[in-house]
Amino acid sequence: GDILKKRKIAVLGSRSVGKSSLVVQFIENHFVESYYPTIESTFSKSVNYKGVEYDCDIIDTAGQDEYSILNTKHAIGIHGFVLVYSVTSRNSFDMVQIVYDKIINFCGIKEIPCVIVGAKTDLQPRGTRQVASNEGEELAKQNHAAWVETSAKNNVNVAKVFELCLAEIERHSPSSKVE
Ligand code: GDP
Repeated sequence: GDILKKRKIAVLGSRSVGKSSLVVQFIENHFVESYYPTIESTFSKSVNYKGVEYDCDIIDTAGQDEYSILNTKHAIGIHGFVLVYSVTSRNSFDMVQIVYDKIINFCGIKEIPCVIVGAKTDLQPRGTRQVASNEGEELAKQNHAAWVETSAKNNVNVAKVFELCLAEIERHSPSSKVE
């Protein structure tokens, strides 16, 4: 049919884990070596997933740390969350749980539609990996979230991130409940 569903997705995580690169690769199909790290932007894209057309707004945030207060516009009216860490940074991995907890505390719910993303997997052959795949998988399991590893540089699993996010949103609120 002619269903068009609006979905708002916020991309969060530590600075320089590759949030912008992931979003830009998904929206514009190219890899940016350097982006403007502190600028927040919203991108729109129509995504066809399982025969349904989704009108997605993707908010690429500037990045969070343990001391930053959750920006309420990154929680209010957001349907799904993409929490990104870099597989080359243990600190960014630890930040995922901190940001996740800030969101659920703010929203007052136990679970949110969420995809946890281990970015920059192309760097691992150089021996810089600090977070093993099974650790990412385990973190996602504990939080009832989806999980995937990506390389924005090589365009590996980039579209998958957003498909998983749409699936998580559907899983939490079957279409009739989401406007
Ligand atoms: P953000 O601050 O989280 O938005 O991170 P950026 O997207 O700006 O990326 C930070 C740095 O990591 C930039 O120099 C990117 O080119 C680099 N980067 C991002 N994604 C990848 C990736 O998949 N592979 C590699 N090798 N570098 C990446």
